[in-house]
Amino acid sequence: MELAQDLGEKPFRGKQLYKSLYARRILTLDAITELAKPLRDKLAATSHITETTIANVFNSTDGTRRYLLKLGDGKEVEAVFIPEENRDTICISCQVGCAVGCAFCMTAQLGIKRNMTAGEIVSQVILVLNEVYGAGERAPHRTNLVFMGMGESFLNYDEVMKAIRLLCDEKGLNIHPKRITVSTSGIVPKINEFAQEEVRPRLAVSLSGTTDEQRTKLIPLNKRYGIGELMTALQNYTLGRREKVTFEYVMLDGINDSDEDAQRLVKLIRRYQLHAMVNLIPHNPAPELPFASSPMSRILRFQNILVENGVVTFIRRPRGQDISAACGQLAARQQAAK
Ligand code: SAH
Ligand code: SF4
Repeated sequence: MELAQDLGEKPFRGKQLYKSLYARRILTLDAITELAKPLRDKLAATSHITETTIANVFNSTDGTRRYLLKLGDGKEVEAVFIPEENRDTICISCQVGCAVGCAFCMTAQLGIKRNMTAGEIVSQVILVLNEVYGAGERAPHRTNLVFMGMGESFLNYDEVMKAIRLLCDEKGLNIHPKRITVSTSGIVPKINEFAQEEVRPRLAVSLSGTTDEQRTKLIPLNKRYGIGELMTALQNYTLGRREKVTFEYVMLDGINDSDEDAQRLVKLIRRYQLHAMVNLIPHNPAPELPFASSPMSRILRFQNILVENGVVTFIRRPRGQDISAACGQLAARQQAAK
């Protein structure tokens, strides 16, 4: 609306533009025919809609698609579209690279290049939905969003929250906050801040270790915010009715996958009285990463111990493996794609 006023137009023109962009996902000004041609020209001369473009798409045999996206400054990030029977999930990025440096993650190897803006974050969703379903068309399935692409959401907190408010706006893309999951490696002060947000998606915390010594080796951030501090933050995190915090746990062969680890995880959840569920993620390998995934028999045994002790636990089914589209494999390496 402010933009319309700046251009000497009535505020409702701004509303029309907003609706076209976010509710109908029309990204070319000329296709927004509700706006008169002179106004479209004026807009084109003074502003741009998005500079993000799809540089490449990789299709998996299981229907998963990996998108290499080019931002306005030429930097690249990735997003993944994962179709399921009754819903689609789009995995999006929030930073170019990542500063956290987890030992098992490809994105870590890029280091941090820069934060993405809220507009850039939202543009991934619009571009992917349009590529799959066409602009202006309703997505036939419900869309779930996970901030599990490149980057640490809570190290780009303000832009991520701004993007979430845009994504959830009923007059825009209208994605329900409960359909969005923000995943963090455990930036404790931001977990506390997130707890206070009015529009608050689901929270997932990447744990992947049950002692400080072990977790620090995998997720160096643990030196700063140890397991005790992390669990206390989660204990104080007020959940909605039937809401649970999700722990993500990457299963690394011989590193964090013993029976004792499973028992320690149960104890942690009990000691801090957490309403939590656990997602076990088989490690997605890459030549650059010094780990192997735990064998499925071990993952099942780990799951059993948790379930027997009353902890709801799922094993994440790997998707898009043939196109390196799985968690922790995103590193915008065009040459690595098959
Ligand atoms: N930075 C956030 C979100 C992006 S990573 C975070 O770390 O939570 C999304 C998930 O992928 C995290 O749970 C992370 O632990 C996991 N992950 C990273 N590398 C992986 C790999 N090589 N195989 C399986 N999961 C991985
Ligand atoms: Fe960053 Fe998450 Fe990868 Fe760790 S797992 S390096 S926090 S993107």
